[in-house]
Amino acid sequence: SSSASTALEAKENGIKKKPSSESVINLDHGDPTMFESYWWRMGDKCTITIPGWQSLSYFSDVGNLCWFLEPELANEIRRLHCFVGNAAVENRHIVVGTGSTQLFQAALYALSPPDAPAPVNVVAAAPYYSSYPAMTDYLRSGLYRWAGDAYAFDKDEPYIELVTSPNNPDGFTREAVVLNRGGGKLVHDLVYYWPQYTPITSPADHDLMLFTVSKSTGHAGTRIGWALVKDKEVAKKMTKFIELNTIGVSKDSQLRAAKILQVVSDSCRHSGSGCESENFFEYGRRIMTERWEQLRDVISHKDLFRLPEYPLEFCKFAGEFTEAHPAFAWLKSKEEIEDCERFLKGYKILTRSGKHFGVDTKHVRVSMLDREDTFHLLLERLSAMQGHEREE
Ligand code: PMP
Repeated sequence: SSSASTALEAKENGIKKKPSSESVINLDHGDPTMFESYWWRMGDKCTITIPGWQSLSYFSDVGNLCWFLEPELANEIRRLHCFVGNAAVENRHIVVGTGSTQLFQAALYALSPPDAPAPVNVVAAAPYYSSYPAMTDYLRSGLYRWAGDAYAFDKDEPYIELVTSPNNPDGFTREAVVLNRGGGKLVHDLVYYWPQYTPITSPADHDLMLFTVSKSTGHAGTRIGWALVKDKEVAKKMTKFIELNTIGVSKDSQLRAAKILQVVSDSCRHSGSGCESENFFEYGRRIMTERWEQLRDVISHKDLFRLPEYPLEFCKFAGEFTEAHPAFAWLKSKEEIEDCERFLKGYKILTRSGKHFGVDTKHVRVSMLDREDTFHLLLERLSAMQGHEREE
């Protein structure tokens, strides 16, 4: 049928499909398709086969606090953190989730006092990840409610502060900003704390830390995230949330994620570039460094936008001083452009306005993680803009 042949065509075009010079480029989402080229080169290394008789049971590890966590995934998570040195895994409970998104909600559920007269305040320092307000409020929970910018929070009430480090959208390393008056709980969203984005200065050691394959390896579609949780009761409550929400997390996805993490850890034992065993994070660092250099070069030749500057810090993973190369470019337009999102849309570049992150419309967030062709169109379009050419 024609619909079947259209579907086949779409599949064949698949990852090879190139955007034309006329097409609108969508850099609004942080879809990590950049990593396809690495995994393409890895060929069958991550291929797993799941026979029909496997993974029927709801249960994975009945002796474990998180009873739906596949032991292989738990092992690979611990092993990868040890290789990379980005998080302390000793004496922590691992809770697996359908993306870190589900774990975010499990964390709010677990950290909210169950019998409080009013919902607990949930805050994050602006600019904050644009999904936090909606994810917090969409069910109008009686347990927690979005209370906005953490810098502006001055109530003498219990709160949960979301600390995103490196931060989405601006890429800076962060710490909690609310001065703790005893009633505060912290959730550390560390989904970008990986060597391709930022120097790994020390293993993060917080009470509740969130990670995901979406940003670490690029497998966002697998929908696997994990939380490292110190407190047993908190880990239990998070597990309970996931039990009530989805009775566990896809075993098929967990097995695939375990395999991918295993291949990444194995690649960390090799160095060198270009070969088929190239270290995954060296590859990521190389591409992100190139992209940021190219973007800074184009931006510096126009008097239209400003980009944040990141400090040089010693990355223990890389063994050298490096600066951040964030997953997003946080652009600020100069005086005459009031609405930067609208301005860029005029050049067929879709971005996300600062207003979604709790700041002004002079800012936009631009994904740096799209495929090579799309990124090049971005550079081309930025360099073709009518700015004041800067005198060198
Ligand atoms: N936290 C932050 C800061 C993010 O940017 C994202 C993805 N955009 C997520 C969490 C959610 O990731 P996922 O659900 O795919 O694990």
